[in-house]
Amino acid sequence: MISSLLIANRGEIAVRIIRTCKEYGIRSVLACSEADRDSLGASMADHVVCIGPPSSQQSYLNMDALITAAMVTRCEAVHPGIGFLSENAEFSRRVSEAGLIFIGSPSAIIALLGDKIQAKKAAEENHIPLVPGTKESLNSVEEAVKETERIGFPIILKAAGGGGGKGMRIIRDISELHSAFETTKLEAEKAFGDARVYMEHYLEHPRHVEVQLIADTHGKVLHLGERDCTVQENHQKLLEESPAPQTSPEVLARMFEDAKRLFLSLKYVGAGTVEFLVEGDNYFFMEVNTRLQVEHPVTELRTGVDLVHMQLLAHSGEHLPIDQDLSLKDLCVLEARVNARTPGRVEQYHAPGGYGVRIDSALYTGYFVPPFYDALIAKVLCFGNSREEAINRMMRTLDEMKIEGIQTNKEMQMKIIDSEIFRSGVYDTKVIEQL
Ligand code: ADP
Repeated sequence: MISSLLIANRGEIAVRIIRTCKEYGIRSVLACSEADRDSLGASMADHVVCIGPPSSQQSYLNMDALITAAMVTRCEAVHPGIGFLSENAEFSRRVSEAGLIFIGSPSAIIALLGDKIQAKKAAEENHIPLVPGTKESLNSVEEAVKETERIGFPIILKAAGGGGGKGMRIIRDISELHSAFETTKLEAEKAFGDARVYMEHYLEHPRHVEVQLIADTHGKVLHLGERDCTVQENHQKLLEESPAPQTSPEVLARMFEDAKRLFLSLKYVGAGTVEFLVEGDNYFFMEVNTRLQVEHPVTELRTGVDLVHMQLLAHSGEHLPIDQDLSLKDLCVLEARVNARTPGRVEQYHAPGGYGVRIDSALYTGYFVPPFYDALIAKVLCFGNSREEAINRMMRTLDEMKIEGIQTNKEMQMKIIDSEIFRSGVYDTKVIEQL
């Protein structure tokens, strides 16, 4: 097992990783920008290295600075966290070339699965159902028009190199196709440096259900159950839960086996997630995320497994100390993402607590939420013996949580969670529009 780790990230996920390091006696070194010197992570890590100015380009995306920080502090491994360089093939390669362990996928796997067209091919080769769509990127709008005849409207145009809910456009009529094709290409080039786009049939009422996996270097591949991430705003997840309220055990069992087969065929190592869209008893492969997900604590509460610890073990070449016979607890787990709507000073922060509550956050009273980074400031998790109990506990917990001085989406989350439609469990990815 490694004994020292550079954390190339910030905010709540840096705190999350440092906590596991402390529990397992691993020296933690936090790479932080000038804007994060007073962060909770910086006060908790064993060692802090300032890697550059606030802008992400000059700090958390600065590969030279991060690798140098790991070398001078004699770290054995680099954890990229979530976002930033966590799914960057070049960073993975450069970390390895520097003689360090990358706590993530090797460069070739990131490159393969980060290309959504290639990822779909890999899924198809493993007999996993796909949403009807184009098998290659579209070279011209004429080609796109022809493909729509086969796929049928509505369709969704997607950037092959996209992510984070960006680079997608829904088209309901052929008349919209010309301009949408050009705009999506331009946006994809600008946002991802890759102008390739492809097309899928757009499902009107899907749920988003994903499978968490963990694998070691000795050929063991385990699934750790599912997470339902159907509650989204602009294709970005807001609320997650497990078990998936509307997906049958038979469908889930098939998804688990499909996800495992894909990972086995890829000789995958570490933590990863296979995302699916589900409509009734039909499910379709969407993509693979080759990193820890924001919502990974949902799985941790459902399984009792520390996923960061498993990642560190797997990438150290150890055998995973768990097996597929691990049972998914008979609990309902919910996670609400609390996002800042404005930067600024947190005049007062009161963290809620009590039975069945977990808070992953880097907030403290007096903390200044910088304007430079992701808006996520806290993940509030609650579990209950039933979905109703988990929902009621989440309402109580969010009510107890006090964040003063900045605007957040807490009230909106409470409105969603307490709504009849969310409580019913019966909805699709458009649920926010129906409140
Ligand atoms: P990203 O990698 O940017 O997160 P995904 O491909 O994972 O993009 O899709 C994000 C969300 O977009 C999905 O959870 C779903 O709500 C919606 N979506 C993607 N593809 C389709 C589709 N073919 N039909 C309906 N909704 C879709």
